[in-house]
Amino acid sequence: MSEHDTQLTATGNNFIRDIIAAQIAHGEHTGDVVTRFPPEPNGFLHIGHAQSICVNFGLADYFDGFCRLRFDDTNPEKEEQRYIDQIQEDVHWLGFEWEGSIRFSSDYFETLYEYALHLIENGDAYVDELSSEQARAYRGDWNTPGTNSPYRSRTPAENLERFEMMRAGQFGEGQAALRAKIDMAAGNMNLRDPIIYRVRHATHHQTGDRWCIYPSYDFAHGQSDAIEGVTHSICTLEFADHRPLYDWFIDHLPVPARPVQYEFGRLNISFTVTSKRRLRRLIDEGFVNGWDDPRMPTLSGIRRRGYTPAAIRDFCEAVGVTRTDGMVDVAQLEHAVRDDLNKNAPRAMCVMDPLKIVLTNFAAGEVETITARGHPDRDDLPPRQLPLTREIVIEHADFRESANKKYKRLVLGKKVRLRNAYVIQADDVVKNDAGEIIEVHCRYDPDTLGELPADGVKPKGVIHWVSASHSARATVREYDRLFATDKPGRDTEDFVEDLNPNALTIHHNCHIEPGLAPAVPETRVQFERIGYFVADRYDHTPEAPVFNQTVALRDSWAGKTA
Ligand code: ATP
Ligand code: MG
Repeated sequence: MSEHDTQLTATGNNFIRDIIAAQIAHGEHTGDVVTRFPPEPNGFLHIGHAQSICVNFGLADYFDGFCRLRFDDTNPEKEEQRYIDQIQEDVHWLGFEWEGSIRFSSDYFETLYEYALHLIENGDAYVDELSSEQARAYRGDWNTPGTNSPYRSRTPAENLERFEMMRAGQFGEGQAALRAKIDMAAGNMNLRDPIIYRVRHATHHQTGDRWCIYPSYDFAHGQSDAIEGVTHSICTLEFADHRPLYDWFIDHLPVPARPVQYEFGRLNISFTVTSKRRLRRLIDEGFVNGWDDPRMPTLSGIRRRGYTPAAIRDFCEAVGVTRTDGMVDVAQLEHAVRDDLNKNAPRAMCVMDPLKIVLTNFAAGEVETITARGHPDRDDLPPRQLPLTREIVIEHADFRESANKKYKRLVLGKKVRLRNAYVIQADDVVKNDAGEIIEVHCRYDPDTLGELPADGVKPKGVIHWVSASHSARATVREYDRLFATDKPGRDTEDFVEDLNPNALTIHHNCHIEPGLAPAVPETRVQFERIGYFVADRYDHTPEAPVFNQTVALRDSWAGKTA
């Protein structure tokens, strides 16, 4: 399966799927199931958005309907074209294809304006000219009903004239707003004459300077859904209190369809922040190098980190769709990634912290090419050619002069197997003036390629290695979780205090198998005994290879937090 094929299997709980299935079974829903993913183009998509994407596209897929991509662009000051481009790239990368061309709420500004006129003509909306402080006071609070604005009793004719003036730019920002006339005493604050249109003298990325009034999210969203024929408008729980308003607009407007809003619990992940405001702060204050830094939980960040679309989709499906906000352990996401990469990533060897080994009985200048499997269980992945030479490197941590039985690596006087190659025995150590080991002299046993040594005793350990002379040098970025605590900001004044200072360690001069250097960017591999890595999407070249750690082979955090 290519990473762009989606294979959605309905394994997790999804109460919305159950509702729709029941609607279809009872004949309450006929025709296509139409959904939409409605990002605001004011930042990059993150792992939380992936959940929403999987839910919306997944439901459409499951019921053989379709899903659109609609930019919710009613906030011109905060929105940018580059976010529009990036969001499309990320949705495609996750493996989804929207129906038709991309849509914008701004495509419907003219219709929305007519809808506003419709409300005014029916006495259901009025132009208010209270200052924002006054409006706040009139609004009341949870315990106090609001009071009617003196402008609430304006006639439709007066309101039409005033609204035209708003559109014509005759009001400054904050001087006038169009409000729905609902109920200033409503228990649900969203129904206390919510604002439908605001004055904003801002250039819009789609509509330029055509408008100086912009519809509110609540006014634009449901009506855009109706115009597009969306049947199931799925959003997160914080919009549950907006549903009565969503329905009120649909009831009071001549919309072509009656979409229904459904809310599900947001995906929150431990050790992770998924608020765009917080992510933006990490960038602005230089804690990370932009939205697509591999430490970021953005889709472009975790893509650079080596996460696979399939793993993210599997994770979202497993998490399920629930009626309450929940916290999911980030280990579950990492597990999904490990699982996918374990099955699909070819194996390779990389020595991150090289210690020179001289094979004293191996002829200088000779190169023996050893063929190793590309993957232990996969015959479809091509074999690798590993040059073995007199001088090789192993990890510093894989040699000790003396050790107890638990240390199953190379010890002076003892044997170990070189992964994919021969058994060697350490005879001698060379140290520098500081007493540090700089070289180990070993003998290799030429009869042990795929065979036990003559004494029949299997060496306890297997260690990875790379030829010192016939290898490529790489920069390896070892990434760890961006935050060191499961709920950043819970026990600190400021969430940035919880950043993990060890989230990035850069290893220069790592030795990699020569066959790895020409890998194309975004090639994923398992460095045997270390973890999963990916050739950096932007920085990797055959001349200067750069690999990012996706995830370690094992979860080193397990047990660290209660
Ligand atoms: P933020 O709060 O970070 O600014 P947002 O919800 O305002 O995010 P939008 O661009 O409006 O960002 O989100 C697009 C869609 O993604 C919305 O339907 C929203 O409900 C959904 N979404 C955003 N975050 C999550 C999350 N953590 N889990 C599930 N769905 C999410
Ligand atoms: Mg939003």
